[in-house]
Amino acid sequence: MKQATYFIPTAKDAPKDAQIASHRILLQGGYVKQTAAGIYSYLPLGQRVMQKIEAIVRTELNAIDAHEIFMPVLQPVELWNESGRFSEYGPELMTMKDRHDRTFILGPTHEEVITDIVRDHIKSYKKMPLSLYQIQTKFRDELRPRFGLMRGREFTMMDAYSFTAKDEDTNKIYDNMGSAYAHILDQLKLEYRMVSAISGQIGGSESAEFMVLSQIGEDTVLYSDTSDFASNLEVYPELKAGDKSPDGHGILKEAKGIEVGHIFKLGTKYSVDMKANFTNNKGELEPIIMGCYGLGISRLIMALLEQNQVEGKVVWPLAVAPFKVHILLANIKNTEQVAAANTVYAHLQEAGVDVLFDNRDERLGAKFGDADLIGSPIRVVVGKGVENGVLECLNFLTDKKVEIAIENVVQTIKDWL
Ligand code: ATP
Ligand code: MG
Repeated sequence: MKQATYFIPTAKDAPKDAQIASHRILLQGGYVKQTAAGIYSYLPLGQRVMQKIEAIVRTELNAIDAHEIFMPVLQPVELWNESGRFSEYGPELMTMKDRHDRTFILGPTHEEVITDIVRDHIKSYKKMPLSLYQIQTKFRDELRPRFGLMRGREFTMMDAYSFTAKDEDTNKIYDNMGSAYAHILDQLKLEYRMVSAISGQIGGSESAEFMVLSQIGEDTVLYSDTSDFASNLEVYPELKAGDKSPDGHGILKEAKGIEVGHIFKLGTKYSVDMKANFTNNKGELEPIIMGCYGLGISRLIMALLEQNQVEGKVVWPLAVAPFKVHILLANIKNTEQVAAANTVYAHLQEAGVDVLFDNRDERLGAKFGDADLIGSPIRVVVGKGVENGVLECLNFLTDKKVEIAIENVVQTIKDWL
C-alpha cells in the first residue's frame, strides 16, 4: 500500500481525552475515529487489525467444529420476555421501537435469538452436539464507556453457543472452547491467565474468564505462585495476595487483568424458559443443555496495544500487524532513493508480504513519528545509505538493526517473517 494515497489520519498531538497509552495510540495513529461516546468508526488501520484477529478466531473455531452464522442486531422483545431477561437486564439494554410501536432490543448478547433458532430445528438427541458462532456488533449502554474500544457501547464480539443432550458433551465443548481461546491468545502473543469467574447476568453454573495481564485492567486476578490455581478476585473476595492458595498449593499473587473472553456452562436456564426441548433416546422430552462463549474482538485490539507499546511506541505482533513491513522513503526528490524504495516495495508485494510504503512528501522525522504509531514489526529506511548501495533494516521483534545491500533486503525480510 502506498501511504500517499492511503488513509491513515495520524495526529501530531496526543488527544486530551486519552488517559492510557493504548487509547492514545488508537486515536493518534488514526486506527479509529470516535463517532459518539463509546461508539467508533474503524478506519483502514483499525479495520485491518480487526480483520486479522477475526481470521484467527474463525480458523480456531472452525477447527473445533463450530459453524459460523450471523444473527440480527434487532431482537424482538417477545423473545426477551420469554427468557425473563427483558425485566432483569437493566439500563445497559438498548431498545428501539419500529413504526408499529413494537419494541426491539439491540442485542447485547444473543442467547434468546439462538435458542429460538435451535428449538425450531433440533428436536432429537441425534442432531446434537451442535456449536454455532458469529462475529457481530453488540450494543450495551455502558454507564462509563472508556479507554476507546475497551468499554464501548457498540462493539464487536465473537459469541458462540453450544447445544447438547448430555452434560458430558457440554463439558467437552467447554474445554475445547477454552483451548481454542488459548490458541487464539497464544497466536496474538498476549500474556494472559484463564481464571474461574462468576457467571453474572448471563447465568449458568460454571464459568471461566480469559484475562490479559495489564496494569490498566479493571479486574483483579489471584493466582498461585506454584500451581495452576487462578481466579477472579470476585469469586474469593475474602482472599488477598500473600494468603495461602485455596487449592493448598503455594501462595497467592495478585495482578490486574483485562477480561477479553468469558466461557459459560449455561445448563438448561434458557432452554427451560424458552421451551427448547429434544427427544432423548428413550423417547422422552428433555431441555437442551447449553453453553455460551464470548470473546471481545474489539477489546482485544486494546489489550494488544496496551501489551505491545513502550512509551507510546507500538510494535504489533506479526499475526495482526496492519502491515508487517513499513518502507520509509527519506527523500522523495532523490531519484536513486525512489528507485531503491520502489524496487523493494514491488518485490515484497510480489512475495505477498503486507507492506506499507511511506512515499509521502513529508520530513523523515514525521514519517518516523507516524511509523511508531503504525507499529510494523519490520521497518526499512531508504535514505542516504543508498549512495553506498545499502538500506537500513530494523526488526523490532528481535531488536535487530542492520544495513543490508539493496539486492539482499527482500530475502532478509523474508527470513525474518
Ligand atoms: P465486563 O465485565 O468488562 O463488562 P462482561 O462480563 O459484561 O464484561 P460478557 O458479557 O462476558 O462481558 O461479554 C463477553 C466479552 O465481550 C467480554 O469478555 C469482553 O471481552 C467483551 N465485552 C463486554 N463488554 C464490552 C464492552 N462494553 N466493550 C467492549 N468489549 C466488551
Ligand atoms: Mg459488562
